Amino acid sequence: MSINQSGISRDTQIFDLIQKEHNRQLHGIELIASENFVSPQVMEAAGSILTNKYAEGLPGKRYYGGCEVVDEVEQIAIDRLKALFNLTWANVQPHSGAQANMAVFLACLNPGDKILGFNLSHGGHLSHGSPVNISGKYFQPFFYGVEKETGLIDWDKVEATAAAEKPRLIICGASAYSRDWDYARLRNIADKVGAILLADISHPAGLIAKGLLNDPFDHCHIVTTTTHKTLRGTRGGVIMMRNDFENPFGITTAKGKVRTMSSLLDSGVFPGTQGGPLEHIIAAKAVAFGEALTDDFTNYAVQVQKNAKVMADAFVNKGYKVISNGTDNHLALIDLRPKGITGKLAENTLIQADITVNKNMVPFDEATAMTTSGMRVGTAAMTTRGLKENDFERVVGLVDKVLTNHDNEAVIKSVKSEINEWMKDFPLFQN
Ligand SMILES: *Cc1c(COP(=O)(O)O)cnc(C)c1O
Repeated sequence: MSINQSGISRDTQIFDLIQKEHNRQLHGIELIASENFVSPQVMEAAGSILTNKYAEGLPGKRYYGGCEVVDEVEQIAIDRLKALFNLTWANVQPHSGAQANMAVFLACLNPGDKILGFNLSHGGHLSHGSPVNISGKYFQPFFYGVEKETGLIDWDKVEATAAAEKPRLIICGASAYSRDWDYARLRNIADKVGAILLADISHPAGLIAKGLLNDPFDHCHIVTTTTHKTLRGTRGGVIMMRNDFENPFGITTAKGKVRTMSSLLDSGVFPGTQGGPLEHIIAAKAVAFGEALTDDFTNYAVQVQKNAKVMADAFVNKGYKVISNGTDNHLALIDLRPKGITGKLAENTLIQADITVNKNMVPFDEATAMTTSGMRVGTAAMTTRGLKENDFERVVGLVDKVLTNHDNEAVIKSVKSEINEWMKDFPLFQN
């Protein structure tokens, strides 16, 4: 497409870098659990002319003219998401997962209110009450964690903390927890203390959509997710409910009618925490939700989970300490202390062999967040690329070879060449 604006020449500086990043993604093994590879049509929608449109408001209720087309796009995104998770309401405008959570907080909390979330250093997320995040600065955070011996959450302890602190909002969901959640038990706890229960399913959303993990929607009042992890869509967030309800805080309309939670959540997104929606990104979300509704995606999600089990078992068999000894979902958290290396060293060494992981705090970690004692690995991205169970065994073998030879440049180099050659068998994008 040519641009009819004089004086604009191709920005080779940026497009050369995009090509460089393209090559990086093709040559290596991507094990970052929060990443994935979107389809060409998702990228096409994300890069479309819809970026030019202002559309503050919701489909049919906008503050700008000319929204007829984007209204249809956004409505399709909403309808497909509803179909995917069997919902009655959804908002597809949050720019990211953290933004989705912030909109929920604005809808449900007043400054200083108590919230109860999963400890960040045990696998929780920054946006669930970390002191460096707005959720921990504007609200009063309390946390639950995992047990040292088992790596599992003890629901009785969650109940005890909830009973002691009486939070207004309980948050479940994590960034580095490899086991499933007892949403029914959590709802029971929330009801006992009069709290709203929020599930943030950012990581396992794609597996939940296909019924491969417990379904949070009948138990949790509100559910948020990112769209770019196992859901394999564009970078973004959404807020969902299976059942709408009148807000329990007594918030009314100007006419004195109790407002529904969906109306508070819509307002929490816009005008509460965002301005105009990114309609190009919403279009890309719609495309990804359409893909997620297919049988192909069901097969993908099943394979992600199978690959993760094999990967976790392979690490255990090689003597690694996998937190909770395995996984129910797409990821594993590995404590590297028994191997005598830090998360930082693992991340920095593996990248020299074109294997990408992220260093990660492990439960009861003494190291700092910049060093860490662990690493997090996931199967979502490489399963998109076509890797199966036996391939993941080979991947773990290569990871182990690099880590056990972290001071041997020749070995690392040979693994890198092996990987670059192997990855040619798994093309990603058409050029
Ligand atoms: C990734 C993640 C988020 C944040 O998503 P962003 O799009 O990076 O803001 C929120 N919550 C959980 C549990 C996550 O894993």
